[in-house]
Amino acid sequence: MRKTLYIIGLSMAVFSCTSQQNAKKKQYIPKTPSVQPKTAVKTTSEKPKPKVTTEHGVEFFTTNIANPANNDNTASYGSIVSAKPAGYKVVKTYFPAIAQNFRQRYLILHYTALPDDKSITVLTQQAVSSHYLVNNTGDNQIYQLVDENKRAYHAGVSAWRADKNLNDTSIGIEIVNTGYITDASGKKIFAPFDDAQIKKVASLVKDIVSRYQIPATNILAHSDIAPTRKQDPGPLFPWKKLYDEYQIGMWYDEAQKQGFYDLATSTDFQSKYNDPAFIFNVQTQLQKFGYGLDLSGKWDDATKKTIEAFQYHFRPENYDGIMDAETYAVLQALVLKYSLK
Ligand SMILES: [Zn+2]
Repeated sequence: MRKTLYIIGLSMAVFSCTSQQNAKKKQYIPKTPSVQPKTAVKTTSEKPKPKVTTEHGVEFFTTNIANPANNDNTASYGSIVSAKPAGYKVVKTYFPAIAQNFRQRYLILHYTALPDDKSITVLTQQAVSSHYLVNNTGDNQIYQLVDENKRAYHAGVSAWRADKNLNDTSIGIEIVNTGYITDASGKKIFAPFDDAQIKKVASLVKDIVSRYQIPATNILAHSDIAPTRKQDPGPLFPWKKLYDEYQIGMWYDEAQKQGFYDLATSTDFQSKYNDPAFIFNVQTQLQKFGYGLDLSGKWDDATKKTIEAFQYHFRPENYDGIMDAETYAVLQALVLKYSLK
């Protein structure tokens, strides 16, 4: 069973995140000035100069130009990577542009579907990668595989709200876990996470989220952003615990959920279940919450898999892909709480 699981996991990992060619964007190339300024460039504002430190020959700055009132997630820390054009000097002392932010707007959590030793090999030697790898070996180490300022290949074809191809805008964390096996009835049986490993994940997520001011709505499972392809990190990943104990990510308000549940069960929920208008409404709510889903008015395969992904994250006790009254109540409570955020 272990060998079978490894092969399944390996093939999943290898084929999961290979669509990386779609990220080329036009870049603005400034014209070279014909006359070199004789004096240093002056900033137009009176903002203090950022503190610059050098570690191992790499410059880092510490500054903070974030504006939380505008949901601006510009962070306060980063490395400085500059051009060195022959014969010219790039002046970067003051970082004068206010109109800038970091590309790190999402945090995506995965499981590797592999044991420890295979995880590190696949994520460093093959066409998939992540910024961080959280092992399950009981030590106090977390591996960094990709610089936070660079893209890692972990999300693949993906979408959330108006955003697509989230490798461009996310940090990926892979958690060592062997994933799932399928039992005789076809049900997916997932491997549990170790408590010490979850503590590592929580501490790492807290650090990244606070530095880049990543909103709760953008801390997601791989299965949230690619529900027709992915199950990770699965229903045993403790999203509620992370929300309750570490204030990480999204969770619904229990009273609001109960209100929607009472409403659903007091009306004849089952009789309208296959009504295209009801299905259309469910799909609209899933889309409004963030899932990349087409509105077909049918319980099609994409919709069932999206409901299953939603259940992994927010109603993990039963992840059969059926929009039952409780799942529907949870969805409505989440839309109410987060759709405008
Ligand atoms: Zn994944």
